[in-house]
Amino acid sequence: MEIASIEPIPLSYSLPAGEGLGDARGFGHERATTLLRLETDTGVVGWGEAFAPGPIASATIEELFRDDVLGMDPYAVESLAERSYADPYHFGGSAFVQSAVSAIDLACWDIIGKTVGKPVHTLLGGTERTTLTPYASTMYFTEKDRPIEEPMREAVEAGFTAAKIKIGTTLEEDVERVRTARGILGEDGHLMVDVNGNYRPDQAIRTAKAIEEYDITWIEEPVPPENLSGYREVKQHVDVPIAAGEAHFGRFEFKRLVDDRLVDVVQPNLARCGGLSEARTIAKLASAENVGVRPHIWNSGVGLAAAVQFAASVPDYPNTRNVPEPMLVEFDRSDNPLRDGILEAPFDPTGGSLDVPQEPGLGITVDEDTVETYRADD
Ligand SMILES: [Mg+2]
Repeated sequence: MEIASIEPIPLSYSLPAGEGLGDARGFGHERATTLLRLETDTGVVGWGEAFAPGPIASATIEELFRDDVLGMDPYAVESLAERSYADPYHFGGSAFVQSAVSAIDLACWDIIGKTVGKPVHTLLGGTERTTLTPYASTMYFTEKDRPIEEPMREAVEAGFTAAKIKIGTTLEEDVERVRTARGILGEDGHLMVDVNGNYRPDQAIRTAKAIEEYDITWIEEPVPPENLSGYREVKQHVDVPIAAGEAHFGRFEFKRLVDDRLVDVVQPNLARCGGLSEARTIAKLASAENVGVRPHIWNSGVGLAAAVQFAASVPDYPNTRNVPEPMLVEFDRSDNPLRDGILEAPFDPTGGSLDVPQEPGLGITVDEDTVETYRADD
């Protein structure tokens, strides 16, 4: 079996005017990503995703990988990441190259699973985990005139028992948002906060100390991802667990986060970190230092499916039988047809539980007609 065709597909969806999604750094008005469709000479189609702007991801795949991927045996997937650091030499350690590698890697795993008739989490050495705990990514900063508590109420009404909210503007607003969210979520729900790297260490420390009483499961990107010394400083001064990883990629960056004890939880994005193969390496590095692994998901339905398969395969460590820790999986609550519309059976997080697909490969069927609807290069 060999790969016979490779097609990057840039997608974009513009949010309605006045409905931009905000984090502490500003508002976004477009959802965009790049799918990858591989097909083998045996007629098996595999889907991947690069968490990168369409024109850049497409050009990277076309220029740097097309010739090597055509004719490749999908079972050789594990060698992709290593090869990417050697060729193109000097460029492997770039986010765009590793996003491209991620897309190819995910599509290869999808093909392997479909070929042998097994879901990817089983191929990864799976666990007995058949459901995951979705957490609502919500309470974005909004351009709409709506009460800040409304999206959290909607999430709880939909059955979510865990949520992550945006903070990172001012100490006062941070505390107000956290108090509001905790009040609606109740005492027992897991509550995470996300600064999106918008603070200096002293600001992050002040906020973390002020919200500690609200039982925060983690504070995400309290300082910019490049500011590793800032992570060290925050870690030394606060008791709230720290999470990061959505902006990082590859085992080398994650090894630094883990070995230097800069975070308590790593959050690889499957469409950026190097794919399922590299995520598995990252999870083992984290396990060796007793650091948690919870995937970051701001992706299409394909990247979400990959993250679900990965999360289902991450073993509990240490054994959490007596200290239950759910495998939390991010579920963005904003309107996004690239997540739901392109799948024939979208993921359903309502009721506070997410089933792990047991169908072969990534466990999804991509609706190619809908994909064409959101295509950004035609
Ligand atoms: Mg985040």
